Amino acid sequence: MTIPFYVSTAIPYVNAEPHLGFAYEAVLADVVARHARARGHDVRFVTGSDEHSLKNVLAAERAGVSVAELVRTNAARFAALRDTLDLSTDVFVRTSEPRHRAAVERLWRALAERGELYRAPYRGLYCAGCERFVDEGEERCDEHPHAALERIEEDNWFLRLSAHGETIARAIDEGRLRIEPEAHRREVLALLRAGLRDVSVSRSVRRARGWAIPVPGDDTQVIWVWLDALASYASAIGYGDDDDAFRTSWRDARERVHVLGKGILRFHAALWPALLSAAREPWPTRLFVHGYVTVEGAKIAKSGAAAISPFELVARHGTDAVRWFLLRHLPVDRDGDFSLDRFVAVHDAELANQLGNLVARTVTLIERAGGHVPSAHAAHEGELEHALRAEVDALATGVDEALDRFAPHDAASAISRVVLAANTYADRRAPWSLARDPAARAALETTLFHLADALRVVAIVLAPLLPTTARAIAHQLGADDLDALDAPGLRVRRGAPIFPRIAR
Ligand SMILES: [Zn+2]
Repeated sequence: MTIPFYVSTAIPYVNAEPHLGFAYEAVLADVVARHARARGHDVRFVTGSDEHSLKNVLAAERAGVSVAELVRTNAARFAALRDTLDLSTDVFVRTSEPRHRAAVERLWRALAERGELYRAPYRGLYCAGCERFVDEGEERCDEHPHAALERIEEDNWFLRLSAHGETIARAIDEGRLRIEPEAHRREVLALLRAGLRDVSVSRSVRRARGWAIPVPGDDTQVIWVWLDALASYASAIGYGDDDDAFRTSWRDARERVHVLGKGILRFHAALWPALLSAAREPWPTRLFVHGYVTVEGAKIAKSGAAAISPFELVARHGTDAVRWFLLRHLPVDRDGDFSLDRFVAVHDAELANQLGNLVARTVTLIERAGGHVPSAHAAHEGELEHALRAEVDALATGVDEALDRFAPHDAASAISRVVLAANTYADRRAPWSLARDPAARAALETTLFHLADALRVVAIVLAPLLPTTARAIAHQLGADDLDALDAPGLRVRRGAPIFPRIAR
C-alpha cells in the first residue's frame, strides 16, 4: 500500500506568458514531487491557473481581447511548461472550470453553514495588485510600494479569521504545520501572535467587473479571488465533484505540501488553514517558501526587457541545464539573480567540465578496458578509495536531509562536491596510465569500479533534480533505468557528451 503525498505550486494569474519566476517555483515543486515518488509515495502533484484575477481583466482590456480568450491562451502556455521543464505534474486545474466552481461553492456553503461568515460594511484601502485590503494603519502595500491604493466603501461578506489565529500558532509550534525556511516560520508566528483580523471574502459584482464566481445566494457579491484561488488546491483533486478522490489525495495524504513565493505566505499560513478548519478539512502539513528571482539584477517585469522566457532558454540550452541553474544557484531562503553570463559560466564549469567530464572519462575508460563495469580488488583499495567511498556513502542521506528541509540548493551542492571528489580521485589514480601497464590490471579495475560506483550514486540522487540527465548517466553505464544500476558487470554504452560546453 503506497502512502499518498500531495504537493502543489501556487497558481499564477495568467495575465501574461510564464516567466522565469514561475518556472523556478514549478521546478522546486517538481523536485519535491519526484523525491517523494522515489521514496515510494503515491504523489499527487497539482498546479493550475488563477483566472479570476482582476489583473486578467485589465490585461485583456489592454490587449483588446475577451478575458476568456486571454486566460485560455496564457493558461495553455503555463500548461506547456510541463513538457518544457520536464515537470511531473498530475493535475492542471483552471479556476474557470466547472469542477473548480463546484468546489468553491461547496467551500463557501460549508463556511456559511458553520457561522464563519457575516455581512458587514467595509471601509478601507485596497491594493489592486494583491487584490487585498491593506491592514488598518498601513498607508501602502509592502508588495506594491508605488501603487496608489483605492479607497473603498461597500458591503462585503467577512470570514471570522480572528477566531483561528491561536489554533494555527499552536499547530506551528507543535510542528503539525511546518514552514521552511525557518525565518518564515518566525515571521508567521509573529503575525499570528499580533492577532488576526476578520477578512473580507467577497467583492461587489461591479468592482470585479463580473469576472468571478458569484456568492451563492447573494447576487450583489462575487467571491474574493484569494478564497477562489486557494480552493484550487482542493478542486484539483476532487473536492466538490469526487469525494473519494479528495479523500485519497488530501485527507489521507502523509504530507500536504504547498510550494509558494514569500509574498503570498500569509494567505497560505493564516487564511488557508482557517478556511480548511471552518470546512472541517485537514490542513497542509508543510509550506515551502522561496524568494524572488531577479533577472540581470532587475525585478522581473513581465512585459519588460528583463523577462527571459523559460521556453527560449530551454530551447537554446536544454531543460536540465536550466533546472540545474535554478536549483543550485537560486537558494530558496533569499532572492536570487539569473544572468545569462552566470548561467553559461556555471553550465560549463559544473555540468560540462565536472559532471559531463566524469561521465565521459569513466565510460570511455571502461569501454577501453573491455566494456563491462569491473569489480574492485580489496588489495588495491587504499586511502583514496576509502575517502571517496565515505563521501559517496554519505551523499544519499545528505540529499534526503536537504530536500526534507526544502534546501534543494544544498542537495545540488552536495552532489557537485561528490562529482568533484570523483574527478579529483581519477586525476590522482590516473587510470589512463594504469591502462597501459598489463601488470596494473587489478589497480585499474579497482579505480574504474570506484568511478562507476560514484556515478551510480550520483545518478540516483540526481534523479529528482535532473531526471533526464540521471537517465542518460544510467544509460551510459549500461542500465536501462535507474533501478537496474545496481546489477553487477553492466556493459557501458558510450554516448554523446551529456552537457556540451556552451562557451567557445
Ligand atoms: Zn499589493
